[in-house]
Amino acid sequence: MAERDSSYPLLSVEEALERFLARVPLLPAEPRPILECLDRVLAEDVMADRDVPPLANSAMDGYALRAADLEGATAEAPVRLDVIAELPAGKVFAGLVGPGQAVRIMTGAPIPGGADTVVRFEDVAESGSAGDRQVLISRPVRRGSNVRQAGEDVRAGQVVLPKGTRLRPQEIGMLASVGRVEAMVYRRPRVAILGTGDELVSAGEQPGPGQIRDINSYACAAQALRAGATPILLGIAADRRDPLAAGIRRGLEAGADLFITSGGVSVGDFDLVKRVLATEGQIDFWWVNMKPGKPLAFGSVGGVPLLGLPGNPVAAMISFDLFARPALRKMQGFTDWTWPELTARLASAIERKDGRRHYLRVRLRRTEEGWQADLTGDQGSGILNSMVQADGLAVIPEQAERLPAGAQVRVLLLE
Ligand code: AMP
Ligand code: MG
Repeated sequence: MAERDSSYPLLSVEEALERFLARVPLLPAEPRPILECLDRVLAEDVMADRDVPPLANSAMDGYALRAADLEGATAEAPVRLDVIAELPAGKVFAGLVGPGQAVRIMTGAPIPGGADTVVRFEDVAESGSAGDRQVLISRPVRRGSNVRQAGEDVRAGQVVLPKGTRLRPQEIGMLASVGRVEAMVYRRPRVAILGTGDELVSAGEQPGPGQIRDINSYACAAQALRAGATPILLGIAADRRDPLAAGIRRGLEAGADLFITSGGVSVGDFDLVKRVLATEGQIDFWWVNMKPGKPLAFGSVGGVPLLGLPGNPVAAMISFDLFARPALRKMQGFTDWTWPELTARLASAIERKDGRRHYLRVRLRRTEEGWQADLTGDQGSGILNSMVQADGLAVIPEQAERLPAGAQVRVLLLE
């Protein structure tokens, strides 16, 4: 990697992310069937059209009755009630339960008029036969037992899911509960992904002498999918003006909301990318104080934000997760794009003096003293195996020159 050219700014990860996100818009909302809304963000307040449950109903299989009837009941002198009807879920009893009467009721069936309480089958003795059945109950019960009240889950007119809610399976269930088969959600971003480099061939081709297979297009497309976006694979552009410009045009024609390029951002190469993009839009080159993945290009082409990742696959993937993923989340209406993380103890000491923030690939192991992080071997930015073996990225702060074995570090989880 070339030496830093001081005409480009040196930014912390946070500064670079903030500057980039400032250029990233929220995408418009669209109506989608609710099963397509999973893991998306609601773009409207959703209100209940009715009480849930709509009527007071039985929480148990048993007998609906009047609690007052059971006041003096004992084992020696049980109360005897006449069973006047049988009520399955989904049916409403037209009559009234009077004193001395009960209705045999199934879970979910509306409580008949006059009744206020349900006693479970297990707590009654039945006698007589169909048409002339009685129940014997040998102790009093609290009024309202085993009755679910109307509206106890949701009240008609209540906002059950506010705009901005991330839709998980339970929220999809709530949409169904209030009768919504479609909901307004923010659109998924389309991410155009362009690899650059004369040495690259696509994964299905046999590489010639000096050639390697394109990794970044596939890894970044998978990361885009994980982030809720739709990848558009533009293939590989050779390191010349025309193929690069053609790649950019194809991305714009495909309706890209975000451009991701990889490679061609080391100082020597960057001149080409810069010249091409300068004719289509505007581009900045930033040094981000991190390792792997120091140089990054940020800009826009045809009004579409662009992120130019380093070529080395590990650097490309980590830069994607730190910068592209938050952008894709912001576009979809998410307001939090921090990674899930935990704290772990380093299994071995770490020494380095470059003043950069390091993201070290680690495997996590659960021990009696909590999580332990072991480095996944060679940490070179081209060693994809260091990612394949990893559960997470240990964050080594800029100012830490030496961390002893056992030091506590933050680990961003790759799952
Ligand atoms: P560059 O920034 O273009 O100089 O690339 C840096 C290193 O990453 C070089 O060794 C490239 O061969 C490699 N590289 C660039 N793009 C890719 C890619 N899409 N897949 C795999 N390796 C790549
Ligand atoms: Mg290159």
